Amino acid sequence: MKKKIITIIAVIVLGMVIFLSFPYLLDQDPKNKLKKIGYTTEEQNAISKLSKETQNYLEHKPYQDNLLEFITNKDFKEEYLEKYLEWVIPNMKSEDIIYIVNNNYIHDNYDNNTLSLMRQEYYIDNNLNRYLAYQTENQTATGEDVIAYINSNVDLGFYENTESTDLSKGILMIANKHYTLGEYVPENLVSIDSNYGKTGYLVKEAYEALKKMFDDANAQGFSLKINSPYRSYTTQVTLYNNYVAKDGITIADTYSARAGFSEHQTGLAADITSKNTNFDSFDTSNEFKWLQEHAHEYGFILRYPKGKDHLTGYMYESWHYRYIGIEAATYIKDHNITFEEYYAYFVK
Ligand SMILES: [Zn+2]
Repeated sequence: MKKKIITIIAVIVLGMVIFLSFPYLLDQDPKNKLKKIGYTTEEQNAISKLSKETQNYLEHKPYQDNLLEFITNKDFKEEYLEKYLEWVIPNMKSEDIIYIVNNNYIHDNYDNNTLSLMRQEYYIDNNLNRYLAYQTENQTATGEDVIAYINSNVDLGFYENTESTDLSKGILMIANKHYTLGEYVPENLVSIDSNYGKTGYLVKEAYEALKKMFDDANAQGFSLKINSPYRSYTTQVTLYNNYVAKDGITIADTYSARAGFSEHQTGLAADITSKNTNFDSFDTSNEFKWLQEHAHEYGFILRYPKGKDHLTGYMYESWHYRYIGIEAATYIKDHNITFEEYYAYFVK
Protein backbone atom coordinates (compact mmCIF):
# COMPACT_ATOMS: atom_id res chain seq x y z
CA MET A 1 0.00 0.00 0.00
CA LYS A 2 2.73 2.44 0.98
CA LYS A 3 4.64 1.51 -2.17
CA LYS A 4 1.63 2.26 -4.33
CA ILE A 5 1.16 5.69 -2.77
CA ILE A 6 4.81 6.52 -3.25
CA THR A 7 4.63 5.45 -6.90
CA ILE A 8 1.51 7.55 -7.52
CA ILE A 9 3.10 10.59 -5.90
CA ALA A 10 6.28 10.06 -7.91
CA VAL A 11 4.28 9.85 -11.16
CA ILE A 12 2.34 13.00 -10.26
CA VAL A 13 5.52 14.92 -9.37
CA LEU A 14 7.23 13.78 -12.56
CA GLY A 15 4.18 14.73 -14.60
CA MET A 16 4.11 18.17 -13.02
CA VAL A 17 7.78 18.70 -13.67
CA ILE A 18 7.35 17.83 -17.36
CA PHE A 19 4.18 19.95 -17.59
CA LEU A 20 5.77 22.98 -15.98
CA SER A 21 8.96 22.79 -17.99
CA PHE A 22 7.14 22.46 -21.32
CA PRO A 23 6.92 26.20 -22.03
CA TYR A 24 10.54 26.51 -20.96
CA LEU A 25 11.60 23.74 -23.40
CA LEU A 26 9.59 25.48 -26.12
CA ASP A 27 11.31 28.70 -25.32
CA GLN A 28 14.70 27.07 -25.83
CA ASP A 29 13.86 26.62 -29.49
CA PRO A 30 15.83 29.48 -31.14
CA LYS A 31 13.18 30.14 -33.80
CA ASN A 32 10.59 30.56 -31.12
CA LYS A 33 12.80 33.00 -29.26
CA LEU A 34 13.48 34.98 -32.43
CA LYS A 35 9.79 35.01 -33.24
CA LYS A 36 9.10 36.45 -29.82
CA ILE A 37 11.67 39.18 -30.45
CA GLY A 38 9.80 40.03 -33.64
CA TYR A 39 11.74 38.41 -36.48
CA THR A 40 9.79 37.26 -39.53
CA THR A 41 10.06 33.71 -40.85
CA GLU A 42 12.41 34.91 -43.58
CA GLU A 43 14.63 36.58 -41.00
CA GLN A 44 14.52 33.53 -38.74
CA ASN A 45 15.61 31.31 -41.62
CA ALA A 46 18.50 33.61 -42.45
CA ILE A 47 19.58 33.71 -38.81
CA SER A 48 19.35 29.91 -38.50
CA LYS A 49 22.17 29.65 -41.08
CA LEU A 50 24.53 31.61 -38.84
CA SER A 51 26.74 30.08 -36.17
CA LYS A 52 25.25 29.06 -32.81
CA GLU A 53 27.27 31.81 -31.18
CA THR A 54 25.81 34.51 -33.43
CA GLN A 55 22.30 33.10 -33.00
CA ASN A 56 22.72 33.24 -29.25
CA TYR A 57 23.93 36.83 -29.52
CA LEU A 58 20.87 37.82 -31.55
CA GLU A 59 18.51 36.02 -29.18
CA HIS A 60 19.70 38.36 -26.46
CA LYS A 61 19.30 41.55 -28.44
CA PRO A 62 16.22 43.56 -29.32
CA TYR A 63 14.82 43.33 -32.86
CA GLN A 64 17.23 44.65 -35.54
CA ASP A 65 15.27 45.94 -38.50
CA ASN A 66 18.26 46.08 -40.86
CA LEU A 67 19.58 42.63 -40.00
CA LEU A 68 18.45 40.95 -43.21
CA GLU A 69 20.08 43.69 -45.30
CA PHE A 70 23.40 42.96 -43.62
CA ILE A 71 23.17 39.17 -43.83
CA THR A 72 22.23 39.16 -47.51
CA ASN A 73 24.92 41.64 -48.57
CA LYS A 74 27.62 39.99 -50.67
CA ASP A 75 30.37 41.48 -48.49
CA PHE A 76 28.75 40.42 -45.20
CA LYS A 77 31.24 38.96 -42.75
CA GLU A 78 29.65 37.17 -39.84
CA GLU A 79 32.53 37.93 -37.49
CA TYR A 80 31.76 41.66 -37.87
CA LEU A 81 27.98 41.41 -37.35
CA GLU A 82 28.19 42.83 -33.85
CA LYS A 83 30.08 45.86 -35.19
CA TYR A 84 27.62 46.39 -38.06
CA LEU A 85 24.75 46.48 -35.58
CA GLU A 86 26.33 48.39 -32.76
CA TRP A 87 28.27 50.98 -34.70
CA VAL A 88 25.39 53.12 -35.88
CA ILE A 89 25.65 56.28 -37.94
CA PRO A 90 22.18 57.70 -38.60
CA ASN A 91 20.89 57.30 -42.17
CA MET A 92 23.91 55.37 -43.34
CA LYS A 93 23.18 52.60 -45.82
CA SER A 94 23.93 49.06 -44.68
CA GLU A 95 26.28 48.55 -47.64
CA ASP A 96 28.32 51.57 -46.52
CA ILE A 97 28.43 50.32 -42.94
CA ILE A 98 29.67 46.95 -44.18
CA TYR A 99 32.33 48.60 -46.35
CA ILE A 100 33.56 50.81 -43.51
CA VAL A 101 33.56 48.11 -40.84
CA ASN A 102 35.15 45.48 -43.12
CA ASN A 103 37.98 47.91 -43.90
CA ASN A 104 38.13 49.28 -40.36
CA TYR A 105 37.61 52.87 -41.54
CA ILE A 106 35.93 53.80 -38.26
CA HIS A 107 35.56 57.52 -37.53
CA ASP A 108 33.18 59.74 -35.60
CA ASN A 109 31.76 61.68 -38.52
CA TYR A 110 30.84 60.84 -42.07
CA ASP A 111 29.33 62.63 -44.98
CA ASN A 112 28.87 61.63 -48.60
CA ASN A 113 32.22 63.13 -49.44
CA THR A 114 34.09 61.12 -46.82
CA LEU A 115 32.42 57.98 -48.08
CA SER A 116 33.30 58.67 -51.69
CA LEU A 117 36.95 59.22 -50.70
CA MET A 118 36.90 55.90 -48.85
CA ARG A 119 35.67 54.20 -52.00
CA GLN A 120 38.63 55.54 -54.02
CA GLU A 121 41.38 53.18 -55.05
CA TYR A 122 44.54 53.78 -52.97
CA TYR A 123 42.58 55.43 -50.14
CA ILE A 124 44.66 55.35 -46.93
CA ASP A 125 42.61 55.81 -43.77
CA ASN A 126 45.41 57.51 -41.82
CA ASN A 127 45.43 60.27 -44.44
CA LEU A 128 41.73 61.11 -44.15
CA ASN A 129 42.13 64.44 -42.39
CA ARG A 130 44.75 65.53 -44.90
CA TYR A 131 42.50 64.53 -47.83
CA LEU A 132 39.69 66.61 -46.35
CA ALA A 133 41.94 69.60 -45.70
CA TYR A 134 43.27 69.48 -49.25
CA GLN A 135 39.74 69.26 -50.63
CA THR A 136 38.64 72.30 -48.68
CA GLU A 137 41.40 74.32 -50.33
CA ASN A 138 41.01 72.75 -53.78
CA GLN A 139 37.30 72.41 -54.38
CA THR A 140 37.65 71.38 -58.02
CA ALA A 141 40.07 68.51 -57.40
CA THR A 142 38.61 65.07 -58.12
CA GLY A 143 38.69 62.39 -55.44
CA GLU A 144 41.33 60.53 -57.43
CA ASP A 145 43.53 63.65 -57.57
CA VAL A 146 43.16 64.25 -53.85
CA ILE A 147 44.27 60.71 -53.02
CA ALA A 148 47.25 60.83 -55.40
CA TYR A 149 48.37 64.22 -54.17
CA ILE A 150 48.21 63.50 -50.46
CA ASN A 151 49.59 59.95 -50.74
CA SER A 152 52.57 61.54 -52.48
CA ASN A 153 52.98 63.88 -49.48
CA VAL A 154 52.92 66.95 -51.67
CA ASP A 155 50.78 68.82 -49.14
CA LEU A 156 53.73 68.63 -46.72
CA GLY A 157 55.82 70.71 -49.14
CA PHE A 158 58.95 69.78 -51.04
CA TYR A 159 61.98 69.71 -48.75
CA GLU A 160 59.78 70.63 -45.79
CA ASN A 161 58.65 68.19 -43.09
CA THR A 162 61.07 65.64 -44.49
CA GLU A 163 61.67 62.28 -42.90
CA SER A 164 64.31 59.58 -43.11
CA THR A 165 63.83 56.89 -45.71
CA ASP A 166 63.06 53.43 -44.40
CA LEU A 167 66.15 51.65 -45.71
CA SER A 168 64.78 48.27 -44.66
CA LYS A 169 62.50 48.40 -47.72
CA GLY A 170 65.52 47.37 -49.80
CA ILE A 171 64.92 47.71 -53.54
CA LEU A 172 61.61 49.43 -52.72
CA MET A 173 63.19 52.19 -50.63
CA ILE A 174 62.07 55.64 -51.65
CA ALA A 175 64.09 58.80 -52.14
CA ASN A 176 62.34 62.00 -53.13
CA LYS A 177 61.76 65.54 -51.90
CA HIS A 178 60.04 64.18 -48.82
CA TYR A 179 62.16 61.15 -47.90
CA THR A 180 65.88 61.63 -47.36
CA LEU A 181 68.67 59.07 -47.47
CA GLY A 182 70.98 61.21 -45.36
CA GLU A 183 74.53 60.16 -46.07
CA TYR A 184 73.54 56.56 -46.79
CA VAL A 185 75.92 54.45 -48.87
CA PRO A 186 74.57 51.18 -50.35
CA GLU A 187 76.47 48.10 -49.22
CA ASN A 188 76.48 46.01 -52.36
CA LEU A 189 77.66 48.39 -55.04
CA VAL A 190 79.37 46.76 -57.99
CA SER A 191 81.49 48.28 -60.71
CA ILE A 192 79.88 48.84 -64.13
CA ASP A 193 81.54 47.34 -67.20
CA SER A 194 82.42 50.05 -69.73
CA ASN A 195 80.46 48.13 -72.42
CA TYR A 196 77.31 49.42 -70.75
CA GLY A 197 78.19 53.10 -70.89
CA LYS A 198 79.73 55.41 -68.36
CA THR A 199 81.58 53.52 -65.67
CA GLY A 200 80.63 53.83 -62.04
CA TYR A 201 78.58 51.78 -59.60
CA LEU A 202 75.14 50.29 -59.14
CA VAL A 203 73.66 47.98 -56.52
CA LYS A 204 74.36 44.42 -57.69
CA GLU A 205 70.72 43.34 -58.13
CA ALA A 206 69.88 46.45 -60.15
CA TYR A 207 73.02 46.07 -62.23
CA GLU A 208 72.27 42.43 -63.09
CA ALA A 209 68.75 43.40 -64.20
CA LEU A 210 70.05 46.34 -66.20
CA LYS A 211 72.67 44.20 -67.97
CA LYS A 212 69.99 41.73 -68.99
CA MET A 213 67.80 44.56 -70.24
CA PHE A 214 70.62 46.15 -72.22
CA ASP A 215 71.77 42.81 -73.64
CA ASP A 216 68.25 41.97 -74.83
CA ALA A 217 67.65 45.42 -76.33
CA ASN A 218 71.04 45.65 -77.95
CA ALA A 219 70.67 42.15 -79.42
CA GLN A 220 67.62 43.53 -81.23
CA GLY A 221 69.61 46.37 -82.73
CA PHE A 222 69.17 49.05 -80.08
CA SER A 223 72.04 50.82 -78.38
CA LEU A 224 71.22 51.62 -74.77
CA LYS A 225 73.93 53.09 -72.58
CA ILE A 226 74.28 54.27 -69.00
CA ASN A 227 74.79 57.97 -68.71
CA SER A 228 74.81 58.39 -64.94
CA PRO A 229 74.57 55.60 -62.36
CA TYR A 230 75.16 55.74 -58.57
CA ARG A 231 76.08 59.11 -57.13
CA SER A 232 77.37 59.53 -53.61
CA TYR A 233 76.11 62.09 -51.14
CA THR A 234 79.22 64.24 -51.63
CA THR A 235 79.01 64.09 -55.43
CA GLN A 236 75.42 65.28 -55.19
CA VAL A 237 76.46 68.16 -52.93
CA THR A 238 78.86 69.42 -55.60
CA LEU A 239 76.45 68.78 -58.45
CA TYR A 240 73.50 70.53 -56.83
CA ASN A 241 75.60 73.49 -55.71
CA ASN A 242 76.87 73.94 -59.26
CA TYR A 243 73.30 73.93 -60.62
CA VAL A 244 72.19 76.44 -58.00
CA ALA A 245 75.11 78.71 -58.91
CA LYS A 246 74.09 78.48 -62.56
CA ASP A 247 70.25 78.64 -62.40
CA GLY A 248 69.29 79.58 -58.84
CA ILE A 249 67.58 77.36 -56.26
CA THR A 250 64.05 77.45 -57.67
CA ILE A 251 65.04 76.26 -61.12
CA ALA A 252 67.76 73.89 -59.90
CA ASP A 253 65.20 72.17 -57.66
CA THR A 254 63.03 71.24 -60.64
CA TYR A 255 65.73 69.09 -62.25
CA SER A 256 68.33 68.32 -59.61
CA ALA A 257 67.96 66.74 -56.23
CA ARG A 258 69.50 68.16 -53.10
CA ALA A 259 72.14 65.96 -51.50
CA GLY A 260 70.56 63.10 -49.54
CA PHE A 261 67.38 63.28 -51.62
CA SER A 262 68.69 61.97 -54.95
CA GLU A 263 67.53 58.61 -56.15
CA HIS A 264 70.96 58.08 -57.67
CA GLN A 265 72.26 57.75 -54.12
CA THR A 266 70.24 54.53 -53.67
CA GLY A 267 72.40 52.81 -56.32
CA LEU A 268 69.12 51.60 -57.82
CA ALA A 269 68.68 54.33 -60.43
CA ALA A 270 70.45 55.19 -63.65
CA ASP A 271 70.16 57.78 -66.36
CA ILE A 272 69.90 55.88 -69.62
CA THR A 273 70.27 57.21 -73.15
CA SER A 274 71.28 55.69 -76.48
CA LYS A 275 74.58 55.85 -78.28
CA ASN A 276 73.14 58.36 -80.77
CA THR A 277 71.11 60.59 -78.49
CA ASN A 278 71.67 62.67 -75.43
CA PHE A 279 69.28 63.53 -72.59
CA ASP A 280 67.15 66.02 -74.51
CA SER A 281 66.64 63.95 -77.63
CA PHE A 282 66.33 60.54 -75.94
CA ASP A 283 62.57 60.95 -75.72
CA THR A 284 62.28 60.66 -79.53
CA SER A 285 64.57 57.65 -79.94
CA ASN A 286 63.60 54.05 -80.70
CA GLU A 287 65.51 53.06 -77.58
CA PHE A 288 63.13 55.12 -75.49
CA LYS A 289 60.15 53.48 -77.18
CA TRP A 290 61.63 50.07 -76.46
CA LEU A 291 62.10 50.96 -72.78
CA GLN A 292 58.53 52.23 -72.59
CA GLU A 293 57.36 48.77 -73.62
CA HIS A 294 59.88 46.56 -71.89
CA ALA A 295 61.62 48.24 -68.92
CA HIS A 296 59.09 46.79 -66.44
CA GLU A 297 59.90 43.26 -67.60
CA TYR A 298 63.32 43.78 -66.05
CA GLY A 299 62.05 45.59 -62.95
CA PHE A 300 62.64 49.18 -64.10
CA ILE A 301 60.26 52.13 -64.25
CA LEU A 302 60.41 55.53 -65.87
CA ARG A 303 60.61 57.35 -62.59
CA TYR A 304 59.54 60.88 -63.55
CA PRO A 305 56.84 60.50 -66.19
CA LYS A 306 55.17 63.23 -68.20
CA GLY A 307 52.37 65.07 -66.43
CA LYS A 308 53.22 63.72 -62.98
CA ASP A 309 55.71 66.37 -61.88
CA HIS A 310 53.26 67.69 -59.26
CA LEU A 311 53.47 64.26 -57.60
CA THR A 312 57.11 63.30 -58.12
CA GLY A 313 58.48 66.82 -57.67
CA TYR A 314 60.51 66.48 -60.86
CA MET A 315 59.93 67.54 -64.41
CA TYR A 316 59.53 64.77 -66.98
CA GLU A 317 62.82 62.89 -67.48
CA SER A 318 62.76 60.36 -70.32
CA TRP A 319 66.20 59.09 -69.27
CA HIS A 320 65.88 58.43 -65.55
CA TYR A 321 65.05 54.80 -64.68
CA ARG A 322 64.68 53.19 -61.30
CA TYR A 323 64.95 49.52 -60.38
CA ILE A 324 62.16 48.33 -58.06
CA GLY A 325 61.77 44.68 -59.14
CA ILE A 326 59.47 43.17 -61.75
CA GLU A 327 56.31 42.90 -59.63
CA ALA A 328 56.19 46.54 -58.55
CA ALA A 329 57.38 47.83 -61.94
CA THR A 330 54.67 45.88 -63.75
CA TYR A 331 51.98 47.12 -61.41
CA ILE A 332 53.07 50.74 -61.81
CA LYS A 333 53.13 50.48 -65.58
CA ASP A 334 49.76 48.72 -65.80
CA HIS A 335 48.04 51.20 -63.48
CA ASN A 336 49.81 54.34 -64.66
CA ILE A 337 50.71 55.54 -61.18
CA THR A 338 53.94 56.97 -59.79
CA PHE A 339 56.32 55.26 -57.40
CA GLU A 340 55.22 57.81 -54.76
CA GLU A 341 51.64 56.52 -54.97
CA TYR A 342 52.73 52.89 -55.08
CA TYR A 343 55.01 53.34 -52.09
CA ALA A 344 52.36 55.00 -49.91
CA TYR A 345 49.77 52.33 -50.58
CA PHE A 346 51.73 49.10 -50.96
CA VAL A 347 55.14 49.53 -49.36
CA LYS A 348 54.88 51.89 -46.41
ZN1 LIG B 1 68.68 60.74 -62.96
